[in-house]
Amino acid sequence: MLQNEYLKRVYEEVQRRDSHEPEFLQAVLEVFESLELVVDKHPEWEKSGLIERFVEPERVVEFRVPWVDDNGNTRVNRGYRVQYNSAIGPYKGGLRFHPSVNLSVIKFLGFEQILKNSLTTLPMGGGKGGSDFDPKGKSDGEVMRFCQSFMTELYRHIGQFTDTPAGDIGVGAREIGYMFGQYKRIVDRFDGGVLTGKGLTFGGSLARTQATGYGLCYFAAEALKHLKGESYEGKTVVVSGSGNVAQYAAEKCTQLGGKVVAMSDSQGYIYDPNGIDLKKLFDIKQRRRARISVYADEVPGSEYHEGCRNIWNVKCDIAMPCASQNEMDAEGAKALIANGCIAVFEGANMPLTPEAIALVQGNGLLYSPGKASNAGGVATSGLEMSQNSIRMSWSFEEVDEKLQGIMKNIYKACYDASVECGRPGDLMVGANVAGFLKVAEAMMAQGVV
Ligand code: NDP
Repeated sequence: MLQNEYLKRVYEEVQRRDSHEPEFLQAVLEVFESLELVVDKHPEWEKSGLIERFVEPERVVEFRVPWVDDNGNTRVNRGYRVQYNSAIGPYKGGLRFHPSVNLSVIKFLGFEQILKNSLTTLPMGGGKGGSDFDPKGKSDGEVMRFCQSFMTELYRHIGQFTDTPAGDIGVGAREIGYMFGQYKRIVDRFDGGVLTGKGLTFGGSLARTQATGYGLCYFAAEALKHLKGESYEGKTVVVSGSGNVAQYAAEKCTQLGGKVVAMSDSQGYIYDPNGIDLKKLFDIKQRRRARISVYADEVPGSEYHEGCRNIWNVKCDIAMPCASQNEMDAEGAKALIANGCIAVFEGANMPLTPEAIALVQGNGLLYSPGKASNAGGVATSGLEMSQNSIRMSWSFEEVDEKLQGIMKNIYKACYDASVECGRPGDLMVGANVAGFLKVAEAMMAQGVV
C-alpha cells in the first residue's frame, strides 16, 4: 500500500481512469512503491504536476490494419503506438505482434521503457507499439502484407528524431525488414535510424540479435559477483521462453559456465538433464520455426511437459524468465524457493507477478527487474542508431564490449541508488529510482509540457 499522499492521489486517479488496464496499473504501482523513498525530498515535483505528467503518455495512436490473406480473405487487426515520454530523447521501444496485445499491454511496456532507456545512459525516450496480429502459422507473404499495411499508417508517426521502433515478441529480423522496406518506399529516403534490429546488409548492427540475452547475463554475472560472491560456473539454470531473448541468454550463460536444463514456449517446456543442446534448439526455433516439443522428439534423454508455467518446478540455482509478462506467479516463486534457487534475473518485461516478487525478495533471493537486466537490447539499438548516423559499422567485438560496459554501468547505477534509498541490494528500487531521477530532472528543466 502506498503511504505518500501525493503518490496515492495520483495512483487513485490512474486507477479511476484506467481501471480496465490491469498490466498498466501493475507497472505503475510497482514504480510508485519505489518512488515513495525519494518523493518527499522533492516537493517541487508535486507543484509542477510531475508525477501526473509522467504517468500520462504524450500521445497514443490506435489504427486499423487491413490486409489480405493467402485465400483472398480480408482481415483486420488493430495497431498501436504509444509515444510515452520524450524528455531525454526521441521515443524508442519495440513493436509486439501477439494476439494478447491491447492498450493495457502496450502502455505498461511503454511506461517501463521510459525508465529502462534512461538507465542505459543513452539519449532515448520511451515508447512501445504493436498489434494483436499473430505471425504464428502465417505464410511469409501474409506476414509481409500485414507489415506493409501496418507501416502504411505508422510511418507518419515515426522518424529518426521523433520515434524509432524496434522488435519485441513476434517481431524479429523478417518483420523489421518488411516494415523498413515499406517505410523507405513511402518516404523515398533511406532513413536507416528510423527502425532498429535491421538486417546486417542494410544498416543493422552486429550483436543486436544477441544483445538482450547476452546483456542479461552480463548484468546477472555482475550482480552475482558483487552481491553473492558467486558466478554462473557450475550453476544449473532454467530459462523460460525460447525466442530471441531466451536463446541468447541460454547461449551466454552456457559460455559463462552455467548449465541450462529447461526452456519453454507458450505450450510447454523441455527438460534435458545433460544441458540443452543449443545448436539443436536454434535449428528448431530459428530455421524450422517449430514447437519446442520437437526437441524432446529428437534428443534422447530429454523430456517434454505440457504447460509452460510448470517450468519453475525444475530444480535450479538460477532462474531467468525470458518469455512474457506475469509468467511466474506465487506458485512458481514458491517452487523455486523450495528447490534452493539463489537468484532470479528477469529477461522478459514484468515476468513476475507482484506476489512472486515479494516472495523472491522476502526469501533472500537475488532479484533483478527486467527494466535493468534486459536493457541491453535497447542499448544496442541505440548503438545501431549511432552507427547509422556516422555511416559506419562496428565489429561484433566492439559492440559486445560496449554492451558489457553499459550493463556494468546499469548494475552500478541500480546498486548505488539502492544504497542511497537505504535498501542496499534491492535492485528493483534502485532501477526505478535511478531511471526516474534522470527523466524527472529533464522534465523539470523543460517546463510544463
Ligand atoms: P520472441 O517472440 O522471440 O519469443 C517469445 C517467447 O516467449 C516464445 O518462446 C513464446 O512462445 C513465449 N511466449 C510468448 N508469449 C507467451 C505467453 N503469454 N506465455 C508463455 N510464453 C509465451 O520474443 P522476445 O524473445 O523478443 O521477447 C521475450 C520477452 O523479452 C518479452 O517480454 C519482451 O518484451 C522482452 N524483451 C525483448 C527484447 C528484445 O530485444 N527482443 C528487449 C527487451 C525485452 P511461443 O513461440 O509459443 O509463442
